[in-house]
Amino acid sequence: RRNLVYVVTPTYNRPEQIPELTRLAQALLQVNHLIHWVVVEDVDRQTSGLEKFLNKFNLQYSLLKSVKPKVFDKVVGKPRGVGARRASLEWLRLHQFTGVVYFADDDNTYDSDIFRQMQRTKKVSMWPVGLVTELGVSSPIVRQGKVIGFYDGWRAYRKFPVDMAGFAINLKLIHAKKNANMPWVAGYEEDEILRSLGITLNDIQPLASNCTEILVWHTKSAKNNWSKKAGNLKTNLEEST
Ligand code: UDP
Ligand code: MN
Repeated sequence: RRNLVYVVTPTYNRPEQIPELTRLAQALLQVNHLIHWVVVEDVDRQTSGLEKFLNKFNLQYSLLKSVKPKVFDKVVGKPRGVGARRASLEWLRLHQFTGVVYFADDDNTYDSDIFRQMQRTKKVSMWPVGLVTELGVSSPIVRQGKVIGFYDGWRAYRKFPVDMAGFAINLKLIHAKKNANMPWVAGYEEDEILRSLGITLNDIQPLASNCTEILVWHTKSAKNNWSKKAGNLKTNLEEST
């Protein structure tokens, strides 16, 4: 079977959910022959009739559910999407799928070309992500085709200071390293899973023309309290003659 890219998207019910997923679905449609979309619904945030929405698109998908253990509600920084990504890894391992896994949050913006490129991931591939931290970009630093370090606005105590949207993993590694997973610690999800795969800088394939192009952006929707604003019903019907 062809090597598919399993695109894992944690998602939860809110007014922006369908617009965000529509944008992502349309990026995936450009390359639908090489994608299996793994949409993972956060059931803590209520169910949202996603099946019907997903069926509109000519996309191969699976809809999974994830629940966050209550004890993590009080954790500082509140890890977001972690339960979903953990559930997807469990599912990918259970079915022993081959191909590549990529963690694609619902609110980011993706140039379809990055999906084409990541299909060739041998172990781990990486590329820049735009609009992340106050530096505006997070990127591997590449010299002579090799990743030698990282440029990122939040170094913290990370060996791999990268954004979730900036790497893909060949599933062979996920199956080989059975305990590799994402922790319930906000900010350390990327570093922890990459460390647990036991990779070195040499194993990282730089994509996006040796990390000189931005094909993924960490976009965020402006926060709005829609329900409050909908309180006063105003139409222009009275004005019409
Ligand atoms: N998410 C989720 N449940 C939540 C909050 C977020 O499933 O309670 C998902 C969200 O849809 C997104 C991912 O987790 O795909 C990351 O969340 P968000 O974009 O809010 O995080 P940020 O980009 O601000 O780190
Ligand atoms: Mn986001």
